[in-house]
Amino acid sequence: MTSEWEAVIGMEVHAELLTQSKMFCGCQVVDSTAAAPNSAVCPVCLGLPGVLPVVNREAVAYAMMVGLALHCEIPALNQFARKSYFYPDLPKGYQISQYDYPLARNGYIDIDLPDGSTKRIGIRRAHLEEDTGKSTHLSDGTTLIDLNRAGVPLLEIVSEPDLRSAEEAEAYARQLRAILQYLGVNTGDMSKGVLRVEANVSVRPKGNQEFRTRTEVKNLNSIRNLSRATEYEIARQIKVWESGGEVIQQTMGWDEARQRTVAQRSKESAHDYRYFPEPDIP
Ligand code: ADP
Ligand code: MG
Ligand code: ZN
Repeated sequence: MTSEWEAVIGMEVHAELLTQSKMFCGCQVVDSTAAAPNSAVCPVCLGLPGVLPVVNREAVAYAMMVGLALHCEIPALNQFARKSYFYPDLPKGYQISQYDYPLARNGYIDIDLPDGSTKRIGIRRAHLEEDTGKSTHLSDGTTLIDLNRAGVPLLEIVSEPDLRSAEEAEAYARQLRAILQYLGVNTGDMSKGVLRVEANVSVRPKGNQEFRTRTEVKNLNSIRNLSRATEYEIARQIKVWESGGEVIQQTMGWDEARQRTVAQRSKESAHDYRYFPEPDIP
């Protein structure tokens, strides 16, 4: 019976920052849905040998504004780190991100719920990183790469698992998007991918304090899809547990045509990104 279960949801939101130039080079940030492919690139964001990243001051200022708006601490020390993985849209073979020392941490957002009440949702951290390029997979098996987006400043905002329903997840996303828009650091246009929302979803018997295995739902290009996908995933997991099965840790995508979540890859926790401090940025 669905009423005996409650959802546990934590959100990971990636927001491109509306700076003039990219995170570590002088390239212009262009609308990746409009500009000619690979027209805003340079040796730094192409990851050519021998180049050095220089931190974009404006991006740091924007990230701090967001951190303050989310009632975060802004520690005196923050540090960039290399996150290594291999993918064609990542020219250097690693992403410059932040790991042990994020720019902002321990904040909260008060979200407005449909019944008129408000609820405080913890913000675990917000850290700066660089966006990847964009792959387009054609039906003949060819993949096209556009690196205009590679190196665009990206702020990742991670919530505590404080959300308890699809409605709360939706309210959180709306509130966070409104804050980013109000600050003028992001247009909030999820259909263009400048704001990308992922929901980590698990369920547990109501009243229980344990955290069960979660799945991570991606490919959510609108708040409506976030809400539908979360709703679907909650119902799916309840069914799995009730039929004596076990939810497995997976990355899921939202299949808009079939209105269901589909498994993309499993064993997410087995990733070894070999994080280490970025030696090229003091
Ligand atoms: P990572 O993605 O690096 O493994 P975490 O495990 O710390 O990072 O959490 C990522 C997100 O998942 C956070 O938003 C967190 O609130 C949420 N989360 C963690 N555990 C659960 C759970 N059992 N159910 C739902 N969400 C969770
Ligand atoms: Mg994650
Ligand atoms: Zn560049």
